[in-house]
Parts: sequence; C-alpha cells; structure tokens
Amino acid sequence: MLEVESYRSLAERVVGATVARGWSDAYAAKKLNSPSQWARTVRGRRITGTSRRGKLMLLETDAAPLGMRFGMTGVLLLDGDAGIDGLFYGPHTFRPTWVRAGLEFTDGRRLLLHDPRRLARVEIDPSLEDLGPDALSLTKAEFRAVVTIARGEGPAIKARLLDQSVVAGVGNLLGDEMLFRAGIDPRRPAGLLDPDEQRRLYQAFTQTMKTLARRGGSHLGDHMEGRLPGGHCPRDGAPMRSATVGGRTTYWCSQHQK
Ligand SMILES: [Zn+2]
Repeated sequence: MLEVESYRSLAERVVGATVARGWSDAYAAKKLNSPSQWARTVRGRRITGTSRRGKLMLLETDAAPLGMRFGMTGVLLLDGDAGIDGLFYGPHTFRPTWVRAGLEFTDGRRLLLHDPRRLARVEIDPSLEDLGPDALSLTKAEFRAVVTIARGEGPAIKARLLDQSVVAGVGNLLGDEMLFRAGIDPRRPAGLLDPDEQRRLYQAFTQTMKTLARRGGSHLGDHMEGRLPGGHCPRDGAPMRSATVGGRTTYWCSQHQK
C-alpha cells in the first residue's frame, strides 16, 4: 500500500490534464463490462485530483472518479518514469506488452499501468463501501474496531489485519512487521488480545506505517532480515517460524512473539 501511495503522489502530476484517449486490455478491464468501456468513459475527462483508500488509487475527474489497483506486481508509470525505484515483487524492467491500461493526455504525457502478472485493474466509479478506514491515517478509535470482535474470539490477528473491509491497506509484509514489532504471535485470536497487547499493537501499527513510508516501501521492515527459510530473528537471534496465516505466508519469531 505504501507503494500505491507513491503512485498516487506520481499521479498528482497529471492533475489539471485532460484525457485525449485511454485504452485497456481484457485483464485490466476485468471489473468493467468490457475493455472498451474504459476508453469510452475516460475520453475528454479532466483530472481534478487524486486520492487513495488502502490499495485502491483514485483519479478524481470532472465526472465520476477512476480507480486503479496494482495487484502484486503492478506499477504506475508516467512517461516511463517509475513512481518508485526498487520494486520488490515486480521485475525491474519495462516491457511494452506489460502495459495493461493507460491514459494519454492532450499535452502528450501518458500514465501507464504496467503489470507482468495481469492482476492490476482499472475501475470506473469504484465503490468504497467494502473498504475499512485507511491504514496510513488509522486513528486509535478506528484501531479499537480492528481488535474488537462482536462474537467469539475472532480470526487470527494476522488475518484480521489483512482484511481490507476492516482496515484498508495492510498487505502481507506490513502485517508481519507490525506483529514483529508488537511481539505478538500472528496466530493469536484477534479478540483475545489484552489491553496491554492492544496498546503495543496500535503503537507498532502506526510506527510501521510511518517508518516504512519514510524508508520507501513495505519490503524495508526490521523483520525482513529473518524472513527466509531457516532465518533468525534480527532482534534476539531465535529461529523464525513460518506458516500460512490468513491465506498468506507468514513469518514470526519463535521467542519474542507470543
Ligand atoms: Zn525475536
């Protein structure tokens, strides 16, 4: 999601520009009625602003907003300039065949959605109803809702953090980093954290977002050094453990995460 925030910042440069034409392949248009719907809708639109909710980037226009999702490997390019330098998941190369969708402006500039794995999507007037509050500006009250489970003990805390309808923008690496910093086992039921653990997790949550935004990406967390098979905790040297939690490969320290 920190990557998406950097793409939003890049997209700020086209605010005020008018779309001359747009195009999309069938993969990027999967959430639309047809690939040509993007081209038909965007033509003549003026970009009036940008915003973001979690991993969804929004281009505000003089009509309904346009959405872009980047999947695991998608990046936003403006005239070929990458929004971020090092790409953790994606290849570091540009290939014209990997441009899934784009907007060309009347001033000649082009905003390109580049994605080798075909998981990036364009959307027209996307609904925000299914998305929780944004992770980058999560308040204490909003966090309380994340760790409050109406009935029973709830899912594993890692799965809860990844649930975009609960809080929007926590990906796999950010989730593991927060729990690493808070010293909490990712498999613990979300509803059973005690008040002290909740406090530690909220602090780790906001620190992780702020620190990794400053460092330049979700792949620059403290736990990454131990994030490999047979890896050791960079904090205390204990063996790291890994398992699938919340549908994603999760790493945690066998000693200080309880
Ligand atoms: Zn440790």
